[in-house]
Amino acid sequence: MIIHLKANVTEGQRKRLTRKLALLGAAIYYSPGTGDRLLAAIGEPSRMAQADPGKLPGVERVVEIATPYKLANREFRPENATLRVGPLSFGGKKIPVIAGPCSVENRTDLLALARIVRKAGATLLRGGAFKPRTSPYSFQGLGEEGLAILAEARDETGLLIVTEVMDTRDVDLVCRYADVLQVGARNIQNFNLLKEVGKAGKPVLLKRGMMTKVTEYLMSAEYILSNGNYDVILCERGIRGFDPATRNTLDLTAIPLIHHLSHLPIIADPSHGTGHWRWVSPMARAAVAAGADGLMLEVHEQPDEAFSDGDQSLLPERFRSLMKELKPIASTIGRQI
Ligand code: PEP
Ligand code: MN
Repeated sequence: MIIHLKANVTEGQRKRLTRKLALLGAAIYYSPGTGDRLLAAIGEPSRMAQADPGKLPGVERVVEIATPYKLANREFRPENATLRVGPLSFGGKKIPVIAGPCSVENRTDLLALARIVRKAGATLLRGGAFKPRTSPYSFQGLGEEGLAILAEARDETGLLIVTEVMDTRDVDLVCRYADVLQVGARNIQNFNLLKEVGKAGKPVLLKRGMMTKVTEYLMSAEYILSNGNYDVILCERGIRGFDPATRNTLDLTAIPLIHHLSHLPIIADPSHGTGHWRWVSPMARAAVAAGADGLMLEVHEQPDEAFSDGDQSLLPERFRSLMKELKPIASTIGRQI
C-alpha cells in the first residue's frame, strides 16, 4: 500500500506508523522527492490490512496498489523520475543519445568511433566488453581489457559509459569502469543479477527481454528498486514476433504504456529492435515522437567487418544525419536532442 502523510505530520505520528507497519512485517520505502511524505509499505496483504494505517493520526490517505509491482508503479512516484547520470539526465526535457559499437573490438577503433559519435551529439558511449552470444564460438568480448578501453574513451571525450554486465561475479568489476550498468535482454529474469545491480549504487539500463510482458518487465525493475537502487532506465529493444522479415518487433506502444504505468524513464533501441540499419533511422524518429526518454544506437565505421551486429549498425554518416533529423521531432513535442 501507498501511504500519503499529512503536511503537518509529527515525528511521533510518523514513528508510530512505521513501528506498527514494521511489527506486521512490512518493508518501508520512501518515495524520493516527497519530503518523506509518501511511502510504500510492502508486506503480506492480510497483515497490511490489519495495520489499517488510514485510521492513524498523521495519515492523509492510503492507496492500495493492485499491480504486483509497487515501487515501479506511478502511484509510488507520481512525478516522472528524472534520473541523473553525471551531468546528464534521463526523463527530463533533453533526450540523451547512447551510441557506439555493439562490441568493443579494439582500442584504436573504439577511440575513433567515440570521437565521431560525440561530435555528432551523442552524450553516452555504448560498447559491450561482456557479450551474450547465442553461439559459444562467437566473439565473447574483451572482458576487462574492453572496459579499460571504454574508460579511456570517456577520459578523452567526456562521453559517459554504458556497458553490459552479465554475471553477478562481474558486477564490482564493471562498476569500476562503467557509468551505467546494462542488463541485457537475456538476463531480464536473472533475479540474482537484478538483486546484485540493485545494490551496486550505479544507474542500471534494464533492457526488455525478447519475450517479456510489460508486467514482467516492471517486476524485473522492481527487483532492482526493492534492493535500494531507484536509478533504473528501461529500454524497449524489440520483442520476438512471428515474422523473420525483421530481427525483432520494436514495440513502440510500450513507451506511452510504460509512461502511464510507471515513473521510470524508458528509452528505445531501434538497432536491436529492427536488426537492420535500413529500419533504424525511421524507428529512431518514431521512438522520439512516441516519447522515448533516450535512444541507444549501434554505430560502426565498417559494419561488414563488425564482430557482432554489423547488419544493424549505422555508418557514421547516417548517424550524423539521423541526429539532425531527430531535432525537429523532439522540439515538436517540447523536448530537445
Ligand atoms: C546489446 O546491447 O548489444 C545487446 C546484446 O542487447 P540486447 O540485450 O537488447 O540483445
Ligand atoms: Mn548488439
